[in-house]
Amino acid sequence: MFDKILIANRGEIALRVVRACREMGIQSVAVHSTADADAMHVRMADEAICIGPPPSGQSYLSFPAIISACEITGAQAIHPGYGFLSENAAFVQAVEDHGITFIGPSAEHIRIMGDKITAKETAKALGIPVVPGSDGGVGALAEAKRVAEQIGYPVIIKATAGGGGRGMKVARDEGELEVAFQTARSEAKAAFGNDEVYMEKYLTTPRHIEIQVFGDGKGNAVHLGERDCSLQRRHQKVLEEAPGPVITAEQRARIGKICADAVASINYIGAGTIEFLFENGEFYFIEMNTRLQVEHPVTEAIFGVDLVREQIRVACGLPMSFRQEDLQINGHAIEVRINAEKLPNFAPSPGKITQYHAPGGLGVRMDSALYDGYRIPPYYDSLIAKLIVHGRDRDEAIARLRRALGELIVDGIDTTIPLFDALTDDPAIRSGDYNIHWLEGWLKVRMAAPT
Ligand code: ADP
Repeated sequence: MFDKILIANRGEIALRVVRACREMGIQSVAVHSTADADAMHVRMADEAICIGPPPSGQSYLSFPAIISACEITGAQAIHPGYGFLSENAAFVQAVEDHGITFIGPSAEHIRIMGDKITAKETAKALGIPVVPGSDGGVGALAEAKRVAEQIGYPVIIKATAGGGGRGMKVARDEGELEVAFQTARSEAKAAFGNDEVYMEKYLTTPRHIEIQVFGDGKGNAVHLGERDCSLQRRHQKVLEEAPGPVITAEQRARIGKICADAVASINYIGAGTIEFLFENGEFYFIEMNTRLQVEHPVTEAIFGVDLVREQIRVACGLPMSFRQEDLQINGHAIEVRINAEKLPNFAPSPGKITQYHAPGGLGVRMDSALYDGYRIPPYYDSLIAKLIVHGRDRDEAIARLRRALGELIVDGIDTTIPLFDALTDDPAIRSGDYNIHWLEGWLKVRMAAPT
């Protein structure tokens, strides 16, 4: 086993990895920018090292800063968390060239799945069902028109290099196609430096269902069921739950096996998530994330496993500690993403936390790097806490979530906590009857009047 792991991340996910390391008897090294000198992940790790100024490009995204931090501290492996360098194939290559282990998949697998067209082609070849769409990139408007006629309107134009919901535009008919096509291309160029786009049938009432997979890199892989992440704002997840309220045991077993077999066949190592849209009983692949997801705790809750521990084990060459038949679902879990944002417009709300009280009790997990007096810097993602609840069934999980939200205090800044108070009281959420477009409609009505 590794003696020391460096965590190339910050905030709650860095803390999450520190915790796994501590339980495994592994020393942890935190890295931080000058803006994060007082951060909780820095306080909790065994060692900490400053890697640069506040902008992520000069700190959390800097290959030389992170690799030298490893060399200075003698860390043998790097855990990238999510975001930042977690899906950067060039970084993985650089890390390995320095004789350091990257805790995650190979550079090649990251590269394949990072390009959405190659990912879709690979998925198709591995027997995974995909959304009908263009064969590869679409270069000109005339071609876009042909593809749209073939698959039928509405269509969605997506950036090949996309991520974070950016560079996506919907065209409901031919009249909307030209503007959508040009806008998607220029947005993709601005966000990713690559204006290649592709097209898909736009599904009008799907749910977002993703399958957690895990491989040992030696041809063995399992699936850990699904997460339903249909509650989204601007294509970004807001609340996630497992198991999915509308997925049957047969559907889970069928799609789970397809995914586990697919990743086993390519000797995939570590955690991965295969994302689908789910409509009328059918699954349609949209992308694969080759890393730990923000919402991994709901899967951990219902299966009783530690995915970070497992990532560290397989990165070190050990076998997975579970087989498919060991993985049985127990109860229901829900996660809400609490952001430092001011409603109704979700404007960033950094600043000093004057009072913080985390909820507790049976079935409550709080993944957060907040503390009394902490000053949230304005430079990074606005996610400040993930509140995860686990109950014997969905109703109990919702009741527990409402109870925990009532205990939670985050003063001094604005947060999205009131959103979850309202959402968990809504009949659609209580009955599980929602799709990926539901939240946007709800927000339009509910957030129209200033809160
Ligand atoms: P990103 O990598 O930017 O997150 P994804 O391909 O994962 O992009 O899509 C993000 C979200 O966009 C999905 O969860 C879904 O809400 C919406 N979306 C993507 N493709 C389609 C589609 N073909 N039809 C309808 N909605 C889609």
